[in-house]
Amino acid sequence: MSGNDFRIEHRYLELPDSFYTRVQPSPLKDAKMVCFNHKLAEQMGFRADSESDWTGVGAGSELLEGMDPVAMKYTGHQFGAYNPELGDGRGLLLWETVGPDGRRWDWHLKGAGMTPYSRFGDGRAVLRSTVREYLCSEAMHGLGIPTTRGLFMVSAKDPVRRESIETAAALVRVAETHIRFGHFEFAAHHEGPEFVKTLLEHVISLHFPHLVNLPDDERYSRWFEEVVERTARTIADWQAVGFCHGVMNSDNMSIIGDTFDYGPFAFLDDFDAGYISNHTDQGGRYAYNRQPQVGFENCRYLATALLPVMEEDDVRRGLRRYEVAYNERFLQNMRDKLGLAIEDKADLSLIMDTFSMMHEHHIDYTAFFRALSNLHSHGHGPVRDLFVDRSVADQWLERYEERLLNESRAHDEREYAMRRVNPKYVLRNYLAQQVIQEAQNGDYEPTKALLKVLERPYDEQPENDAYAALPPDWGKHLNISCSS
Ligand code: AMP
Ligand code: MG
Repeated sequence: MSGNDFRIEHRYLELPDSFYTRVQPSPLKDAKMVCFNHKLAEQMGFRADSESDWTGVGAGSELLEGMDPVAMKYTGHQFGAYNPELGDGRGLLLWETVGPDGRRWDWHLKGAGMTPYSRFGDGRAVLRSTVREYLCSEAMHGLGIPTTRGLFMVSAKDPVRRESIETAAALVRVAETHIRFGHFEFAAHHEGPEFVKTLLEHVISLHFPHLVNLPDDERYSRWFEEVVERTARTIADWQAVGFCHGVMNSDNMSIIGDTFDYGPFAFLDDFDAGYISNHTDQGGRYAYNRQPQVGFENCRYLATALLPVMEEDDVRRGLRRYEVAYNERFLQNMRDKLGLAIEDKADLSLIMDTFSMMHEHHIDYTAFFRALSNLHSHGHGPVRDLFVDRSVADQWLERYEERLLNESRAHDEREYAMRRVNPKYVLRNYLAQQVIQEAQNGDYEPTKALLKVLERPYDEQPENDAYAALPPDWGKHLNISCSS
């Protein structure tokens, strides 16, 4: 671990001590490095000449000088019910570093063993879920969607009981912050207004520095508007790439709008508006088409926690930003995906009809928009091939081609832009499943190969065509367990 060019800080420890408990990680046995994100490390200001130097940190058997691990306390609403017992039950905040570009990074060791907030859990993470989280955070980053990141992960021999016996792993997850909506709920519902204020000032000064010098009331209201807007935009980005989070509890909502806590997530294969990626979510509370509304409900939980320190009118005004920000971003995303640069009043109905058509005919979401991004270079064939009933495709294409007549960009220019927003490669569940099986057999190369492809999801990468293939029969509608 040479060439460190970062500053060590641990500003979370400046919060009142009810916000955390110091906990030492419980070491894992025979840990091996699975993969290490060298590019990210470089951005954070260090180089890992030898990956294995970091295995001990991942295994929880080694702390670097300055690391002072704590389990964070937060609460939150899970499936609509308030749970006061939450907190880092298997993750520890190791320290915070500030890189050469001034960016701040929380280092969080997920799978580090039990903490006072473990409740019935064992404090561990299994290899399957660790690989999924690492892959998906890097896939989202590649797509340009705000997200926590995967710095490195290790795999160990310790058995972990889930639906069956699996093996333990740990992930060093990094993000500008790990503070969640649930931190504010904890402060408001258990500690009192002074704690909410302290947390607010902490978050503003570290993560919203442009607001620091505003007068008190304006600072809080502008901050809340921003949090609401960021949340809405991230979710609009999810909808546009067909991402289902799966567990949108308010303790899984990042205060800076990152996609946070990857569990039973999924990217849609064939489009299904009501798709439920989490098999324990029987009511479909977090189904794909409910995500925008749930994002708003989570902002309302946050709003409630802010009422003791903010004017009610300001809170209401902040909440109203959600719908505006969401609609604006979603419409823009969809216009970009369809390659529509000149605004037309009828575009919204074209977009909605496109979703209905894809839903009704089970059209592969990613493949459809990618094929559309090559419509004039490759012809109608690749789009039509996604339909069982070609006449449906022809009808839709006729309407679309007519709409394109209003556009002024040349076909190749439009399609180039479309390929920058319509990924060829997303983390389809079956792809994750394949590399997980190999990883469970001790071969991490397929995971690394998939990561490399997902780093550049918008590039053609003809040598990697196989990763863009539609799911095989066994890989459709995989049932993803919440137990991670
Ligand atoms: P999640 O569904 O992963 O967002 O976790 C919800 C809550 O359960 C958080 O407080 C986690 O820290 C905790 N938790 C999840 N899995 C475990 C586990 N295996 N051991 C202890 N706590 C856990
Ligand atoms: Mg969580």
